[in-house]
Parts: sequence; C-alpha cells; structure tokens
Amino acid sequence: MKVLKFGGTSVGSVENLNRVKEILISDQEDKIVVCSAMSGVTDHLVRLVENIKLKDTEAITRSLHRLESKHIDVIDTLVNDQEIKNTLKEGVSVIITEMFEVSSQEYSEVINSRIITYGETLLTYIFSGYLNASEVSNVLLDAKEFMDVDSVENPNIEKVQKRLEKVLSNNIQSSIYITQGFVCRDSDGQISHLKRGGSDYTATIIGSALNASEIQIWTDIDGLHNNDPRYVEQTHPISHLTYNEAAELAYFGAKILHPQTVSPVVGKDIPVLLKNTFDPEATGTVISNKTYKKGLKAISAKDGITAIKIKSNRMLMAHGYLRRIFEVFDNFQTSIDMITTSEIAISLTIDNTTNLDKIVKEIESYAEVTIEQDHSIICIVGESVINDKNSYRLFEILNYIPVRMVSYGGSNNNISILVDTKDKIPTLKFLNEKLFQIHEEAVV
Ligand code: ADP
Ligand code: ASP
Ligand code: MG
Repeated sequence: MKVLKFGGTSVGSVENLNRVKEILISDQEDKIVVCSAMSGVTDHLVRLVENIKLKDTEAITRSLHRLESKHIDVIDTLVNDQEIKNTLKEGVSVIITEMFEVSSQEYSEVINSRIITYGETLLTYIFSGYLNASEVSNVLLDAKEFMDVDSVENPNIEKVQKRLEKVLSNNIQSSIYITQGFVCRDSDGQISHLKRGGSDYTATIIGSALNASEIQIWTDIDGLHNNDPRYVEQTHPISHLTYNEAAELAYFGAKILHPQTVSPVVGKDIPVLLKNTFDPEATGTVISNKTYKKGLKAISAKDGITAIKIKSNRMLMAHGYLRRIFEVFDNFQTSIDMITTSEIAISLTIDNTTNLDKIVKEIESYAEVTIEQDHSIICIVGESVINDKNSYRLFEILNYIPVRMVSYGGSNNNISILVDTKDKIPTLKFLNEKLFQIHEEAVV
C-alpha cells in the first residue's frame, strides 16, 4: 500500500485534477490518496470564521455562496454525464447547507476547526465522484472516522492504525481510497485540524499507521530545493535527504513540508518522495534513512521568532540558574528553539508568544529581560554540516548583515543564525551565493 498526497495547487483546477487522475492510474499498486482543499479555499474559510466571530450574517451568506459556486463550476467543467453532474451538485448543496448551520453557531475552537476543514470535505467528495464516473473506481473514506490525534505534536499512531483498519474492513475493497488531509479528532473526539499545511502530516500519519511501502507528496515544484525558491533565484532540487535533514528543514521553515511531516516515519524506514504534479517524470526528492552524501545540503528560514535576552550578575558561577529559567518556559508550555549563553546572560528564541508576558513577569523578578520581536532563524542543514569545509564561508555574512545569534555545534546537522526579519531575504541570497554558487564543490 502506498500513500499519495496532493496539495492545494495539484487539486486546484479541473485541468490539474485530471493530471492527478493520470498519476493515479499510471501506477497499479493499492493506494490511499490524501487530498488538500483547492488552493485558496482554506484561506477563504479562515476569513469566513472571522465573519462567524463577528456574527456578520450577510458576509457569511456571501462567502458560502461563493464557495458553493466555485465547487459547482468545477463539477460543471469536470463531469460530462448530466445525471452524475446533478448528483454531485446536490451533494455539494448538502455540505453547504450543513456549513450554514455550523456558521450560525456561537464561535468556538471546534466551530473554527469544523469550518476550516470543509475545503477538504468538498474537494474529496467531488473528486471521488468524478473518478468513479470516469471508471476509476475508488472508495471515499471520512478521515474523521480514523484520524484520532490526541496530541498534534505526538500522535498515537497505533490508535489511528486500529481505527483505520476497522474503517477499511467496513468498506468495500478498493485499490484506491480517497480521504481528506488536515482534519482530525482531538482527545475529546471533537473535530480538530493538524495546523496549516497539515495534509502532508496526514499522509505520513496514515503511511506510518499502515506501514506503507512509500509515501508520495505531490506538489507544484520538483522536490525540496536547496534554498527558498520564493525569495532566491537559481535554487536546485535535492535528490536525497535523510529524515533528520528533512525534519530540520521542515521545522525551520521549508514551506514545501508541514513542520512535523517526517516525525511519524522516522524509525520506520518508509521513504517519503516529494514529486511534482506538473512534471511527474522529474526525479524529485527522496527522504529516507540513507545518507548518500554528507555535508551542506540546504538553507531554510523560519519567521515570527522572538529573541529574549536574560541578564543577571547572579548567573556568574551560579549553578542551577539555567534550570530555573528553563522551568519557567516549561511551566508556560513554551518551547525554545535557539540558545546562546555568556557568563552573565543568556539569549534564547521562541516562536509561540502566547504566554510571553507571564514568562517575562516571572523572570523579571530576578533578572533583566529584553525582548526583540520580528526575527528569523536561518538554518543551514546537512548531515555533518559542521564538518563541511565550506561551511566557514557562511560567517562572511558578519561583514554584511547584523547577526543577532549563532548556534553552532548543537547538532552536527544544523547551523542556525538569527537575523532581523527585514534582513532575511538578503541573508538567504548571500548564503546561496557563498555556499552554493561560487564554490560548486559545496553543491550536493
Ligand atoms: P502544497 O499546496 O502542494 O502543499 P505548498 O505551497 O505547501 O504546496 O508547498 C510548495 C511550495 O513551497 C513551493 O511552491 C515553494 O514555493 C515553497 N517552498 C519554500 N521553500 C521550499 C524549498 N526549500 N523547496 C521547495 N519548495 C519550497
Ligand atoms: N488545506 C489546508 C491548508 O491550506 C491543509 C493543506 O493544504 O495541507 O492549510
Ligand atoms: Mg503544503
């Protein structure tokens, strides 16, 4: 069994849905197909939730009608048979009616999750119906029946496995199952979601639960590139990455993968392939536990980082001081990404500022605290990158851009620097040139 995931652009138009169909029929192996919402739809639903909060009935009605016509238009162009067309349109109307009902309720986290996951519900309903109408027989599975994810950070794969096996045995056998990405149920059984971009994570949770032979993530680019192609020209796809490398890059901002995509398959030896829906023949990227080449592989950037400097003369020679600080962050469930220390001060970074005020208040009782917002972590990744003889060139950046923190040697596979977000793009460009272009020997 393989798991194939198709992202928003891949399912974002009639033309692209037909590309996906071709990809599905080009391979005979049994598969579970995880689909995102059509591109733009989840953003639309996030705006709808804002109107639910405001109880703006007119805006809600307009928004749901727009959503309905978008999906009805897709059915009109995709399906020829009038009877099937009508059935699918009726199905969409039923879902939209349900959405009107949910939208009339008082805002809550559950209402938010219910609304923003409807994009996947709509798309998979239409696509599964279309495939069946084109004699690509398949079964539509409701992910809410098996994606029981008590903790998004640490999903219980065995629980998903048991539920999924039951769902599969209760359904008729098929070589293609279609299901929704992104949606899940929380520990109270309420509808929840895996955070934005979470369909990648759905695919690896399912792949891990079923011990899939392979997980394919189909998107709009030919694999994971050595730098962010949205900001840097002349990037190139990397053919092989280890789980460690991919996990670091995803966690530190490579948008092509949800930050937690890799964690369910680490230790399971299930390869994750990143493939291009618009160029299926392109090699893409294979993520596995094999190291094909050590050294520098790629750079990524994570925004929304807050740097916190904690200074106290009492830190001098005092043991137990760091424990005391870390306990505060732990008590307020805030994880730390980067740390640097001197004898009298420690600087660290966080990305979740929900409890920042409380953290500062507590630490201020014994130390001086300075906060700097709007920073980005630039992460340079590769197995044994710290031993790569070319890595030293990254420090030439100090000549051009103010660097707030450096983390070197925390792991062999990652060197991180912290810069003001306004310097992020120049930093990515500079590093691309220094590390990948001038010295071709550094290119993997
Ligand atoms: P999908 O909708 O298929 O999940 P995403 O938009 O989430 O697709 O991810 C694909 C996009 O990620 C690419 O179009 C590209 O602009 C962006 N991206 C950012 N960093 C990288 C990288 N290092 N390699 C490849 N793509 C990247
Ligand atoms: N549709 C969701 C989003 O846009 C999940 C995904 O596409 O992965 O975030
Ligand atoms: Mg994505």
